[in-house]
Amino acid sequence: MTDRPLTTFIGPRRRALQWATTLFILLLPWVRPDGVSLVRVDLPTLSLHLFGQILRIEELYLFLFFTLTLTLGFLLMTLTFGRVWCGWGCPQTTLNDMTEWLIRRLHLKVNGNSLTGSPSHQVLLHGIYLTLSLLVAANLLWYFIEPPRFFSELLHGKLDMIASGTLLVVAATVYLDLAFLRRLMCRDFCPYGRFQSALADQSTLTLLRPDVEIARCIDCGACARACPMGIDIRDGEQIACINCGRCLDACRQVMARRNEPGLIRYSFGRHATGAGALITPRRLLLTGATLALTIMLLFAVGNRSSATLKVAHSHTVASRLLTDGQQATFFNLWVNNRAKLTTMYRVQVRSPDPSPLSVKGPVAQILLKPGENRRLDVVVVGSPLPQGRDIEFILVDKETIVASAAAQLPALPPPAE
Ligand code: SF4
Ligand code: SF4
Repeated sequence: MTDRPLTTFIGPRRRALQWATTLFILLLPWVRPDGVSLVRVDLPTLSLHLFGQILRIEELYLFLFFTLTLTLGFLLMTLTFGRVWCGWGCPQTTLNDMTEWLIRRLHLKVNGNSLTGSPSHQVLLHGIYLTLSLLVAANLLWYFIEPPRFFSELLHGKLDMIASGTLLVVAATVYLDLAFLRRLMCRDFCPYGRFQSALADQSTLTLLRPDVEIARCIDCGACARACPMGIDIRDGEQIACINCGRCLDACRQVMARRNEPGLIRYSFGRHATGAGALITPRRLLLTGATLALTIMLLFAVGNRSSATLKVAHSHTVASRLLTDGQQATFFNLWVNNRAKLTTMYRVQVRSPDPSPLSVKGPVAQILLKPGENRRLDVVVVGSPLPQGRDIEFILVDKETIVASAAAQLPALPPPAE
């Protein structure tokens, strides 16, 4: 028995988390410390900006590592907390809640897929759907094009064909979802819901009306009416349940009037065996794998160099002897700044031989933005060295060598007759 009407126990917490997740996804592309996005795929430089790290395409293994770690973490969350992401975090649920609230505020009614009520309110509602759809589509693009550049290109009509096409296709899809699918998307189309049923076990968090409470149930039906997924929790566990807790709040509200506690509650497993039931071989294995991957990922990211240097012989300019007897060998270098600050580099060359070598070309004051990759065409000049002799290019940031790359001197063509 309780005197406290716990009518809004779950609702405010769920809505706060939903909005926090949605705002996080919406605002993350706007967070750009030192002008570098926290999360963005930069297509021109084929790199991924990930929380201060700039991963180029050749470091894709790190991205795959990250994705795998995230996937295992998500599986672990689903195995433990069921479809709690759907009910408490997913932006689709936030949008559904918002549209249902708008429908109520505009005094409209939904019959199947069609709306009834004031035509002007229906037009207004579809206008809001369209605005929300464009916002969602733009939000997706901000993970590829920085928001300031996106708006500048949009306003000046310079958004390229692919970006414009993506904006329209995504906006149209979201509009159809909001206008016609809504909860059907969660119930029938979202693969995560299906997948969750395969993953859940006897200890996964679920909502239930325990058998011991059946006698107290007054069959008022408030729990079923409150359910956005059309579930009657009195019928037992159902795959479409998104663990949102609305039925729990509704039952508490009803029972509070009778000065009794609610009947519905969260429980680890259908048999309410408690948190101890969470210790299962499958969950321990998944926890171990997630932790191991997280540690390996942090180690790999922590040991990345701040820049890379790559070298190849020029395919267009052959090595040659100069008139002063010096050997000139042409190379292409690629310098990549992986740091999150714009950095000035210089390139030097060294060899184990005592005779000095020098490198000429754009090798000083190489100013690279974060993530920028630049090709340098250079020539190494020095006394002729035996064929196959190793030389080494070094990339210097202030006085520190941040990267190096080895190369060999090629055979010189025979002197002209
Ligand atoms: S709201 Fe509670 S009392 Fe009413 S039908 Fe549902 S479980 Fe029973
Ligand atoms: S049964 Fe309860 S927790 Fe599940 S979706 Fe319906 S209201 Fe939410």
